[in-house]
Amino acid sequence: MSPADGVMIAPVDDRWDASAGEGDALDQVLAASRLLGSDRSLANFGGGNTSAKGTATDHAGRDVRVMWVKGSGSDLATMERRHFTGLRLDEILPLIERHEMSDEEMVAYLARCQLDPTMPRCSIETLLHAFVPAEHVHHTHPDGINVLAGTRDGEALVRECFGDRAAWSPYIRPGFTLARQVGLAVRENPALEAVILAKHGLVVWGDTAQEAYRRTVAIVNEAIAFTNARVGGAARFGGPAGTPLSDDQAAELLADVLPALRGAVSSERAKVLVVDRAPAVVEFVSSRDAPELVGVGAPCPDHLVHTKRVPLWVPFDPARDDAAALAERIRELVPAYRDEYRAYVALHADADTVPADPDPRVVLIQNVGLVGVGTSPRAAALSRDLYHRAVEVIAGADAMGGFVSLTDAESFAIEYWPLELYKLSLAPPPGELQGTVALVTGGAGGIGRATMAAMAGMGACVVGLDLDADGAREAVAAYGDAGLGLACDVTSEDAVRDAYRQAVARFGGVDIVVSNAGVASSAPLQETTLDEWQRNYAVLGTGYFLVAREAFRTMIAQATGGSIVFVASKNAVVAGRNAAAYSSAKAAELHLARCLAEEGGPHGIRVNTVNPDAVLQGSRIWGSSWRRERADAYGIEPDQLEEHYRKRTTLGVNILPDDIAQAVVHFASPARSGKSTGNMLNVDGGVPAAYAR
Ligand code: NAD
Repeated sequence: MSPADGVMIAPVDDRWDASAGEGDALDQVLAASRLLGSDRSLANFGGGNTSAKGTATDHAGRDVRVMWVKGSGSDLATMERRHFTGLRLDEILPLIERHEMSDEEMVAYLARCQLDPTMPRCSIETLLHAFVPAEHVHHTHPDGINVLAGTRDGEALVRECFGDRAAWSPYIRPGFTLARQVGLAVRENPALEAVILAKHGLVVWGDTAQEAYRRTVAIVNEAIAFTNARVGGAARFGGPAGTPLSDDQAAELLADVLPALRGAVSSERAKVLVVDRAPAVVEFVSSRDAPELVGVGAPCPDHLVHTKRVPLWVPFDPARDDAAALAERIRELVPAYRDEYRAYVALHADADTVPADPDPRVVLIQNVGLVGVGTSPRAAALSRDLYHRAVEVIAGADAMGGFVSLTDAESFAIEYWPLELYKLSLAPPPGELQGTVALVTGGAGGIGRATMAAMAGMGACVVGLDLDADGAREAVAAYGDAGLGLACDVTSEDAVRDAYRQAVARFGGVDIVVSNAGVASSAPLQETTLDEWQRNYAVLGTGYFLVAREAFRTMIAQATGGSIVFVASKNAVVAGRNAAAYSSAKAAELHLARCLAEEGGPHGIRVNTVNPDAVLQGSRIWGSSWRRERADAYGIEPDQLEEHYRKRTTLGVNILPDDIAQAVVHFASPARSGKSTGNMLNVDGGVPAAYAR
């Protein structure tokens, strides 16, 4: 949030709760860690680290002096006891006598000091915690401190603000040398209350977790009061330069532009987008100084692997540019960003460097807002959240005398630091459909649910559309921020268009469309009503046309190809009695897919069809009059249908919803069927009449 008038940066709350002081040293540091992490202006996701010293019993029953320190890759806000690493302190402390130690040696040494080898690898900054002679040490990256730490005259400002109570440590990459410098500074000056690390963050300590936490809050608020007293009334970022778009205008514009942006930033792997119009962000992207400030760099080393050194800045003047012009500009600027990123890597890389994905992780559209980019909604939101921190720090530092950041070489040394990359390696491996967006019609039904479950399990974001809105929402509930359930009647042109706009607003576009919504009816021709005939054609014919047309529009704007899968039926290829409306509409669906395969080819859009037969489990169709009607058609009872269908297949099997889902996945995945289009795959247990010929 943008602070109120007269306040450059908002103070932080003391959230200490009396019960947090209970338990052993590990419980206490755990409580303090969660409190620090609960305020992202103090400790952003994955950033900061905490420790407590005490005693523990080792595997041989000996009491040993121990330090509990945050494990690498965990987040303060959600720490558990198991996320801390216990280390034998007496084996670590003598290291301060050394003058240097490589990262590799440090990591190997600390691994041998662990109380238990199954504990997580300890934080990069473990030695700093060990060398500071206090029971509890907290290291954070607070906005209020980083304003001073990231201002051109930061050292003088810190001295003016804190006098001798805080030491200033010039920027060096974390590791043995920084730890030793901080440890010695604290040991040599018992009156010291804090160390401020240039362009990085804050270190404080105390006898208890409560004392260290409260001192963090107090020191940060002192820095904030100092900044506000000096520049509280100043315009942030040089004041406004243009008039930002309203929410409605931005939504309208972004619906047309996001697919182009998503395609452009998905050069090596598919990405999802998260749009952000927080007031402080809109203020920043509409400001006079933003075009220059965005190029300075990251306000904290911790941001780099998630935001890259700089965001992509996209100029946009609402008075002059329309959506088409903006999309065109994005298509030009993103490749240029990649070229610059590759040049930066080439300049600093050594023989072991594996270049990261060169696409931007944060895109700022002037007068509109921010777009976070990532291979999952969580990753995209993390980039967004870290840039919120950047906006606050840049606001203060710019007003205090000029925002400064790490040099290119310093940034590279962090972004490609093996110890920083180690944290990323802890994430689960990406799924086969990671970063893709799959839209499934009839998402509340049996096959739709199974299809979404299969694709979500492979890393896709899923959008379930159904007449039954509650059913669609319930079907995606388990996928959290990677699922979206929407009401949509596929026979309505407006509803289909609106559903795609919502999918685009949420994830940035669509790669996979499974047209699966269905109805069924069975009656001899002479008893088939016109209503029934038209209902089948409306859903299975017109509905599939409308869904595919919108898919084409979105995919062509993305320019990354795509896969459309129609769920037709064995009845599309086999003539049967008493289902002429359904079966002929399914045949129309199948042929529509082939026609679209021809039109989609030049755009890399594949269109294929899966033909199920008799999937009784989970199907609403089979819960309706269709079951009775089909049983009547075969002259059997409804509860004999399952056996009837099994027996009539060549393989003697029943077909389950997941069998259909796996066939859909085959066509959805470019890795499995990237060179197949206009095809059909029967999943019917083998029905000779349906064999392709
Ligand atoms: P289902 O009834 O469980 O699911 C179909 C879903 O489509 C329902 O949730 C329904 O609300 C939704 N729907 C219906 N009309 C809609 C509309 N106008 N707009 C949006 N949503 C609408 O059925 P299922 O078994 O999961 O079938 C899925 C697809 O598979 C259908 O196209 C069906 O024809 C086809 N199919 C099924 C079988 C089978 O035996 N289950 C066999 C062959 C083909």
